Order: sequence, then structure tokens, then C-alpha cells
Amino acid sequence: MRGRSMDEHMSSGKLDRRMIIRAGAAAGGAYVLAALGCASGTRTTRDFRDREPLPPPRDPYRPSAPRQRPRLSAEPAAPIVEPGVIARAAWTRQGPAMHLAERMHGINVITVHHDGMSPFQTTNQSEAMERLELIRQAHRGLGWADIGYHYAIDPAGRVYACRPLELQGAHVRDHNHHNLGVVVLGNYERQTPTPEALRALQGFIVSRMHAFGVRPNRVVTHQELRPSACPGRSLQARMVEARHSGGVIATA
Ligand SMILES: [Zn+2]
Repeated sequence: MRGRSMDEHMSSGKLDRRMIIRAGAAAGGAYVLAALGCASGTRTTRDFRDREPLPPPRDPYRPSAPRQRPRLSAEPAAPIVEPGVIARAAWTRQGPAMHLAERMHGINVITVHHDGMSPFQTTNQSEAMERLELIRQAHRGLGWADIGYHYAIDPAGRVYACRPLELQGAHVRDHNHHNLGVVVLGNYERQTPTPEALRALQGFIVSRMHAFGVRPNRVVTHQELRPSACPGRSLQARMVEARHSGGVIATA
């Protein structure tokens, strides 16, 4: 991409999917992955096991919606209102592509990510929601059912509902089963988490540990499951601290 850098486009909020694709083509595809959230280790096709049937062929003269949903008979149930969690409807009007989704039968691991894009420090909620929508569109562009993560946390410490919890996520290749994915918006190779984001992340993890009976040694980071820089050095260090004896997660 000539002229303005990807980061400049990102910070201006004007980066769209065409830009990602153009930039990716120019960079031999490498930047596509960098611009998608932390998904460099995940599949580039569908986000679940290969035994799934392919969706029915599209009739070019038929509107794309409503789509058939061979596996799951209905939209996710009305979202459970979670205290302190911003509903998905606040940041996107699009639901998951249910014909690509797979149910998640219980949760026994929680995985922490960063989005790995440009550093992100604003406390502006609109910008955080735009970034979430960008990630969602990029993940859908890979043929995935939805944004890969179940929750996101912004630098102000807001928590956003993302992929419905009853659906398996797409955030750590080959480790998505029973795995709740939480992404902290930003790049923690290149910045440090804000105190607000860290407090929100740790509090949210503890609440989910209690809700689902997840043990402290099952709260992990992306790089602990697969080779990845995610969630970045500074956030990784804070996660290690939180699991040390006396840490927030260790004592949850
Ligand atoms: Zn990750």
C-alpha cells in the first residue's frame, strides 16, 4: 500500500475490508493476517472441523438472506443480559452465520488474546466498536461463522459480547473446543495494557471461572496453546503474574 500506512488508516477509522485485501495482496498476504486480529495461526477456510457439510449452493437470483441453517435450527436464543457486558447489538447489526457455526458444549478453558493490530489506546467507545466490527468482517471474510472471540475488552475496561457463548469460537487453531476466547483490543507487543483494561480483564476472567467452574491452570493465553506472539509480551507477563501464587487468577 502506497502513501498512508495501514496504521494510519486504522487510527483514522477508515480502514475497510477492501483496504485489508488490497494491502494484503500488496504484501503477499502477510498483512492480511496482521489486520485480522490475532488469527495468524488459525485456518483460512472454515472455522470448525472439516466433517461439516458444505452450505447449499447459492441461487444467484435469490436474496442471500434468510439462509438455510442445516445444523442449528434457530438463531441463538435471546442474548442473556450479563451485568457489565455491552450487548453485541451495540456494535454490530449482523448475527453469526449459523450454517457455519458449531455448538460449544460446555466451557473448561479460557484463552486470552490481543488483536495484534495497531496499538489502540483510545477510551472512545465508538472507535472500539468500529474496531470490533472490522475484526468481525475480516473473520467473516475468511469464511468463519462470526468474529472468532466470545468477548472483547477495550482500553477503558469495557467488556463487549462478541460470538454467542453457545457457539464454539475460532481463536486458537485446534483448541477451540470448550474454549472461551477473550480479546483485549490493542497490540501488547507494542504497548502495555491500561490499568482499566487489565482490571476489567482479570475481573471478567474470575467471574467466568466461577460461572463455568474453570480452574486457574485452565486460564491460558494463545501462545501457551499454539506458537503465536499473541497476546503480546506485556499482556503475557501480566497473565503470568495473575496466575502466580497470590495472583488474582490463582486465588479466584
Ligand atoms: Zn490470539
